[in-house]
Amino acid sequence: MSRLRSSITSIHSNWQPRADKQKRGRRRPDLTDIPIVDHHAHPLLRRAATQDPARFARWFTESADPQIHTAHVPNLLVYRTALRWLAEWLSCAPTVEAILAARAVIPEDEYARALLRDANIAVLLCDYGYGGNEALDHAGMSGILSIPIYRILRLERVAEELLLVHDTFAEFVDAYDQVLADARRQGVVAFKSIIAYRTGLAIDSPNPTAAEAGFGIVRATVRETGRIRLANKYLCDFIVHRGLAVQLQALPFQFHTGFGDADADLRTANPSPAQFRTLSCGAAGSAACGWPYYRETAHLAAIYANVWLDLSLAIPFATVGIPTMIRDVLGMAPFSKVMFATDAFTMPEIYWVAAKWGRWGVQRVLEELIDDGLIGEDEAIQVARSVFHESATRLYGV
Ligand SMILES: [Zn+2]
Repeated sequence: MSRLRSSITSIHSNWQPRADKQKRGRRRPDLTDIPIVDHHAHPLLRRAATQDPARFARWFTESADPQIHTAHVPNLLVYRTALRWLAEWLSCAPTVEAILAARAVIPEDEYARALLRDANIAVLLCDYGYGGNEALDHAGMSGILSIPIYRILRLERVAEELLLVHDTFAEFVDAYDQVLADARRQGVVAFKSIIAYRTGLAIDSPNPTAAEAGFGIVRATVRETGRIRLANKYLCDFIVHRGLAVQLQALPFQFHTGFGDADADLRTANPSPAQFRTLSCGAAGSAACGWPYYRETAHLAAIYANVWLDLSLAIPFATVGIPTMIRDVLGMAPFSKVMFATDAFTMPEIYWVAAKWGRWGVQRVLEELIDDGLIGEDEAIQVARSVFHESATRLYGV
């Protein structure tokens, strides 16, 4: 146990993939000391919820299919590298069983704090709308991690909770408006919408009559099935418009775009539709992630002053494709509009793995730019600072 404890404090922050170690003589800006403001993340689960191989592996994919979890996650590069790096960090064998045994003897809080410290994640913006009943709440997260954590309010979740307790549409809308109007006072630093996964980013003008009918349909489904899932287009469009109308508070607005939850339809998660452009540009500041649509998002960030690009989720899941994405977006969008985040959830290992892939990808692309004589080393460090924390600090006011 003492060996494990000491290994957890010995920081492997100089990790580099082998291919890079072999590139002798290449100029390397050192990015390891640059702290991360992780502006797009979700809560951890209690460790007991992930303390067996199947439940651990499950969180290395967005798939909800158990067959993917057991048969195919072991063949994902993101999973294999995670096992290898964690084994090195924990001084154990590179197997999921050995890693789970090694983590089990380190107190849960200490382990999570050590991983985030090693990742140099200094601030977290957390959307508690994802994670289910086993996820920690804000007090739980603040108790486990010793870094500042700010809340992001997921509009669809707010609406779902209110829909269950209000019988009429008018009451529902009043309550919804109230929660949003009170958000800043409650410590919320951004709104967030996952409408991309529900009814798509071609968001139409609000139609209150149709939204009211949608409210009735969703409530009837809840009565029938006992489950709530807000996926009525009129109602979803309505609540997003309503959220943007509360921009009196000038809170930034995060839109998920591209891949994400297993129920996402990629065709409608593309941020290109004109309606989405118009709408997102009405926000005080709007950030979107969005593999495979990072090119579309880079375009929006390049054209509209209040649109930023969030690289998360593609980092870490795109693995060796990460430099391609970063190269494309840094080529098109202003450096000041491109932001790293983990979009991590459930286990502290996911934050850590995402930070490793993110630093590796940014470093790799900046090295290329230096080698090609396109930017200087000091400039590269400045770009990295902007990507890892400066832009997010400014946008979210944290
Ligand atoms: Zn997310």
